[in-house]
Amino acid sequence: MVVIKSVSAKSILDSRKEKTIFVTIKTNVGSFSASAPNGKSKGKYEAKSYKKSLEEGIKTLKKFSDYFSEEILEKFEDLRRIEDIMDRQIGANTLFALESAVLKAIAKEQKKEVWQLINPDAKKLPRLVGNCVGGGQHSRSKSKPDFQEFLLIPNSKSVKKAFEINKKAKEKIKFLLKERDKNFKGRENDENAWESFLNEKEILEILKKINLPLGVDVAASGFCKRKKYIYKNPPLDRTSEEQFEYLSNLIKNFRLVYVEDGFSEEDFESFAKLLKKFPNSLIVGDDLTVTNYERLKKAIEMKSINAIIIKPNQTGSLLDVSQVCKIAKNNNIKIIFSHRSGETEENILADLAFGFGADFFKCGIDGKERETKLKRLIEIEDGLK
Ligand code: PEP
Ligand code: MG
Repeated sequence: MVVIKSVSAKSILDSRKEKTIFVTIKTNVGSFSASAPNGKSKGKYEAKSYKKSLEEGIKTLKKFSDYFSEEILEKFEDLRRIEDIMDRQIGANTLFALESAVLKAIAKEQKKEVWQLINPDAKKLPRLVGNCVGGGQHSRSKSKPDFQEFLLIPNSKSVKKAFEINKKAKEKIKFLLKERDKNFKGRENDENAWESFLNEKEILEILKKINLPLGVDVAASGFCKRKKYIYKNPPLDRTSEEQFEYLSNLIKNFRLVYVEDGFSEEDFESFAKLLKKFPNSLIVGDDLTVTNYERLKKAIEMKSINAIIIKPNQTGSLLDVSQVCKIAKNNNIKIIFSHRSGETEENILADLAFGFGADFFKCGIDGKERETKLKRLIEIEDGLK
């Protein structure tokens, strides 16, 4: 059993050089740490990262430090004891880092892997979704695609193989972008995806050449104002209906197998319309559902999605994550565990994805903060052989 002797936290920098929280717990079986990532194109309905501020979160943990020592922690469900003590006094990033550190301690004490605490019989490996070219809020270039992410989704059963396929494809795409885009500098954006001056159609034309299943994260809430989608490249306002037509054409012309947040986070109806028309593509909610079971239930009732992004720090509570995954599974909604744009070298995301039976794992293709997660997933894969 694990008993927490003290809890402390400090601030560290994420891959974007923004501050985030790093929590350490001292226990009877040693010290364990974990950190939380930062989003940038955040959903309006996701939980706040900090109740007031990161600094305040650090102080609150210190204040509560002595209250944990009465609790005996032995299994995943014991996170309930942590949440009861904290009683919503900390934000999602602080809670996620704290709970992650606790899971690492329990796993170590029981000589298990973190994923085994969630499901000791887990077997299914997720399919990789690799962010290859970027735009929207994640890119700094003046001219850029309005869509946030262009995704490669190799159809390989092996994570290791898919990782290699994506790496090779990303290099090939660098060459193709250079050929087509005279402004291309070989620069990467927040998520280690190529920054391009081209627009989404031009990028998809290039990606089509590499013969891999393709997807996009439109992140449409980022450029939706008063029910209009305000495109800049080229400048053009689209109504919801026009957005629907535009996405429909892209899905058809580029055989997109995955469309995330194609509409604003308020517009469950348009998601449903798209899913009805393209039941064989993944119509994915991220800002729409924000890893929140109430929003997921609404999306299920309205038949808005057939896949959901799970970002643990959109809620902070891993018990909530568990419930959202359960509801998704029971309703045939595919589960996609995802990194955030501002990442740390924390790799617990891979264990959570595998333990919760994720169908997909969305991450960058390279960069040390992304690779550490992919490598952990490969380690899990190798351990199964
Ligand atoms: C996303 O929208 O899928 C994403 C990773 O963005 P962020 O982490 O900036 O919210
Ligand atoms: Mg998204």
